[in-house]
Amino acid sequence: MADKRDYYEVLGVDKSADEATIKKAYRQLAKKYHPDMNPGDESAAEKFKEASEAYAVLSDPEKRQKYDQFGHAAFDGGAGGAGGFDFSGMDFSDIFGDIFGDLFGGGRRGGRSNGPMKGSNIHTSVRLKFEEAVFGCKKEIELTVKESCSKCGGSGAKPGTSPQTCSKCGGKGQVVFTQQSFFGQVRNVQTCPDCGGSGKVIKEKCPDCRGTGYIPMKKRYEVEFPAGVDNGQCKRMQGLGEPGVNGGPRGDALVEAVVDNHPIFQRQDMNIFSTVPMSFAIAALGGDIIIDTVDGPVVYEVKSGTATDTRIRLRGKGVPSLRNKDLRGDHYVTLVVQVPTKLSNEEKKLLKEFDEAGANSLTAAERFRAEKDGDDPSPKKPKKKKFF
Ligand SMILES: [Zn+2]
Ligand SMILES: [Zn+2]
Repeated sequence: MADKRDYYEVLGVDKSADEATIKKAYRQLAKKYHPDMNPGDESAAEKFKEASEAYAVLSDPEKRQKYDQFGHAAFDGGAGGAGGFDFSGMDFSDIFGDIFGDLFGGGRRGGRSNGPMKGSNIHTSVRLKFEEAVFGCKKEIELTVKESCSKCGGSGAKPGTSPQTCSKCGGKGQVVFTQQSFFGQVRNVQTCPDCGGSGKVIKEKCPDCRGTGYIPMKKRYEVEFPAGVDNGQCKRMQGLGEPGVNGGPRGDALVEAVVDNHPIFQRQDMNIFSTVPMSFAIAALGGDIIIDTVDGPVVYEVKSGTATDTRIRLRGKGVPSLRNKDLRGDHYVTLVVQVPTKLSNEEKKLLKEFDEAGANSLTAAERFRAEKDGDDPSPKKPKKKKFF
């Protein structure tokens, strides 16, 4: 055990690191080196084991204190020192359930029993146009689903042979052993290392599926998204995930909707928002404008004297409720007065006349200056005063 690395060093954390830091460090390492992510990579498996061991100790305040005090000696099996720390007695399902959540699926939980376990979920995503999400749609997706191998009938054993009862655990899938440790005698129940908990071992593997009992097959499926589905929501396709363990049900496929942005509409839950320009004449006099909605263009009557940035509501032109598609949100429209930037001479002349007839804003500053100078202001023909 001389070359056993320091647990803090393994996780890359300080001796003073708090629980959250330790958990985060382990999470990153475990994700990187998890055997499922690195099939057949021995060194990754070793690193995963090393990190798991370090986490098992440092995440447990009592064990951590022992370790801080005695180092690795705290967990040495004593004579021979062959075992080192044994973490089979720990409930890893807790760690995985807690840290990984759905990442590795339900199959990891209760990992010490050889009872039926549900297979892991698989995740995929599909792009939806804005309107497709609003009104619902059907999409075709491709999934790689592990199908039962037809050559061996799913047993994993070469045709003509059959899986044999595991001699290590006698078919129980678990091994019980006692161990002398620093804390005294410890009785541990461990998933059988020979058969992985299934209670059976395959002596001659099926050549088609290499003993797994499954063949990955690409298949196309139609996914129906209901009206009102929002970005990031998942459609669960039952039974299309990884196969279950020991006769457990298959996991599910979770298909995430990735909804495209729309050039005009923004969505917030069941409501839609957009901005619509209106001319100064419409804003001042009132009149009909055309507004685009997800149902197509509608005519809306603007009241005379409508200010810019006025928000109006088009009832029931929003997104349908996921539960009841007849129930719809609203479409809020912000009306913005457009200021013309290219005016013809005719338009300029009319605008000046319009100003003179009313607000007289074009000459207000000149009149103000003239008044300050003591001149008699004339609104019609203001005198240009030069200073200096
Ligand atoms: Zn097979
Ligand atoms: Zn076994």
